[in-house]
Amino acid sequence: MTLDADCIFCKIIRSEIPCFKLHEDDRTLAFLDINPVHPGHALVVPKHHAADVFETPAEWLSATVETAQRVAQAVRATFDPPGLNLLQCNGPAAAQSVAHYHMHVIPRATDDGLTMNWALVPGDMDELARIAEQIRTNM
Ligand code: 5GP
Ligand code: ZN
Repeated sequence: MTLDADCIFCKIIRSEIPCFKLHEDDRTLAFLDINPVHPGHALVVPKHHAADVFETPAEWLSATVETAQRVAQAVRATFDPPGLNLLQCNGPAAAQSVAHYHMHVIPRATDDGLTMNWALVPGDMDELARIAEQIRTNM
């Protein structure tokens, strides 16, 4: 486990800053988001400081997803929302504001105005084939 002295989530992991804790184990901590979209909006963090999905070792990502599933089940049992998003942001353009990998557990309400608002416009098949080939060369 590596933690960072100045990171807000590392401070929460070290209990230097309080949180409304939902779950803790050897590898992860889950707590309520301080700016909740809906009641039950929670964050799950690995107890390892790394900025994003690119820098976080796979075993920490796996542990985070396992805990996120557990939190999602508890949030569903508590609020029975009609939907729930697991959301994870990487980089400022993707709306990441805290540079410690984390997963949001966001219970949703019908027509709550939170949208991933891309239209379902079919892609160009030749372009899709070209892009898939480009990405495959980097896998
Ligand atoms: P991001 O935009 O990086 O995906 O999300 C960061 C989240 O961390 C935001 O939703 C924000 O409300 C939450 N957050 C930031 N600082 C604190 C804090 O000190 N305590 C808690 N509980 N949540 C925080
Ligand atoms: Zn950190």
